[in-house]
Amino acid sequence: MVPTAVTPEEVFADAPPIEELLAVSKPATGRGRIIWPYAIVVVGLHALSLLALIPWLFSWTGAVLMFIGLYFFGGLGITMCYHRLLAHRSFACPQWFERFLVYIGLCCMQDAPGRWVAAHRIHHCFSDKEPDPHSPVLNFFWGHVGWMLVDKHGLNKIANYERYARDLLRQPFYLNLERKGVPILVYLSHGLLFYLVGMAAGFAFEGTLIGGVQFGLSLLVWGVILRTVLVWHITWSVNSLSHLFGYRSYETGEESRNNWLVALITSGEGWHNNHHADPASASNQRKWWEFDLIYYNILVLKKLGLAWNIVEPKEKRQAARAESR
Ligand SMILES: [Zn+2]
Ligand SMILES: [Zn+2]
Repeated sequence: MVPTAVTPEEVFADAPPIEELLAVSKPATGRGRIIWPYAIVVVGLHALSLLALIPWLFSWTGAVLMFIGLYFFGGLGITMCYHRLLAHRSFACPQWFERFLVYIGLCCMQDAPGRWVAAHRIHHCFSDKEPDPHSPVLNFFWGHVGWMLVDKHGLNKIANYERYARDLLRQPFYLNLERKGVPILVYLSHGLLFYLVGMAAGFAFEGTLIGGVQFGLSLLVWGVILRTVLVWHITWSVNSLSHLFGYRSYETGEESRNNWLVALITSGEGWHNNHHADPASASNQRKWWEFDLIYYNILVLKKLGLAWNIVEPKEKRQAARAESR
């Protein structure tokens, strides 16, 4: 079952003209207002991640879960789901699987899909120009994280970003996720689950309550909190580093770059100049060394019958169109 009738070409069709967006994005005071809930969560989780420095809160299981989580939550939840599936509709999948991936994405504390997708589509429409929400051309910190903490572009007004994610927000499932507190509730629930499962396992193996608490906390600190902060920086590096450092294969009219380091830590998102040249494509790989792990994951899903309508790179799409004429 195809979840929506939206095609990759149509995802930007509802975009309002730049004048309209600039009109709503002007900050009332000339400076952006700090969005305190975002600032508290970003600073708070960074502070809590320092708990990983306490030896008592370390376990090898927690460390392994952290590394697996970078791929599972960041790779599948953000890169595959929020970005390629929802923002660009680079492939289609069963509705139940799409929603499963959305919940994995929500465990990354990167907001509900509607707001994420709207910000990303605005970035593609106006890359490195006003009102691109997160261009690092202003400065590295702004492009990396600062843009999220300041209400400069009116992105936290649902009426505004609804224009850019209309295909999602017309579905009750996605609209419900935009309700205040829902994303954080999902995030906290999965953190609690990590802790409780860890505590039960620790108690079973150690036979003491303190052993259970220690093991549960190690999974929470390493498998959830530290992993969340690392996935944040990995995602944010696409917006910052991949618009500042790297080589360009295509003249795209903005500053996007192909950055091998970002590609390595993001499972393929760092080939960002390739992506800007062809945002609809499910693959960012154009040269043999530009390995795009997430694209191969999508091909595995296709083999399993869980993905279809995979959008090939522009060159292949054009060749197929010419052949069919
Ligand atoms: Zn970009
Ligand atoms: Zn994109």
